[in-house]
Amino acid sequence: MTEPSTSATADCVLQCEALSKSYPQANGRLDILNGVELAVARGETLAIVGPSGAGKTTLLHMLGGLDLPSSGCVRVNGQDISALDDRARSRLRNAELGFVYQFHHLLAEFTAVENAAMPLLIAGQARREALGAAAALLEHVGLGERLDHRPSALSGGERQRVAIARALVNQPACVLLDEPTGNLDADTAESVHALLAELNREYQTSLLVVTHDMQLAQRMDRIYRLQAGQLHEQVA
Ligand code: ADP
Repeated sequence: MTEPSTSATADCVLQCEALSKSYPQANGRLDILNGVELAVARGETLAIVGPSGAGKTTLLHMLGGLDLPSSGCVRVNGQDISALDDRARSRLRNAELGFVYQFHHLLAEFTAVENAAMPLLIAGQARREALGAAAALLEHVGLGERLDHRPSALSGGERQRVAIARALVNQPACVLLDEPTGNLDADTAESVHALLAELNREYQTSLLVVTHDMQLAQRMDRIYRLQAGQLHEQVA
């Protein structure tokens, strides 16, 4: 096992240094992350694996600016996110990061194209352009015939494709994925793996995926195991 590299380079889209997270509890504190070091280069793909409860989702939340660490720092495109106020952090997250979850989290009352356009609409882009960009991306992921379907009228795999389009629509530097295929059958999961690989190649978007799915993990450039609050690179 080798320790992850932490050198900051101009091409580093997401990085954390000495990242720790603890939760207070009745008889002291619960340490979940204990000095995590990680650097994701532009266009690089990375998997984080580890047993349930190891802190993978907690780490992803810190890296995505959805929660703040107890100590240490996270940099998105070189900017230390803990130095930003809530608004600036949300803006940076919206511009530079995309998110895909196990459960798609699409909004039930909106169509596929509206859901995929949501990050652009939130960022204040004109509706027409936002919907145009989302429609182009949905066509690209094979959903050109489903633009006006609501999530309830899509299959599980189609919903996850919409969620992937939504994560990519603002052309983020990095997409963070938490068990993106955890809720899909094997064939559908395989088509999502292939789609992610294709989108990574095409857009040079970095991918950081937390997963139990070793087939997905093995498609990534590097695999890390989260163990005792630290990341260890798995040597192939
Ligand atoms: P994983 O994604 O690897 O399964 P999680 O990051 O979800 O693990 O959780 C890691 C540990 O942190 C778990 O033991 C969980 O109970 C604990 N945990 C997560 N959130 C909180 C919280 N808000 N307060 C206290 N403990 C928490």
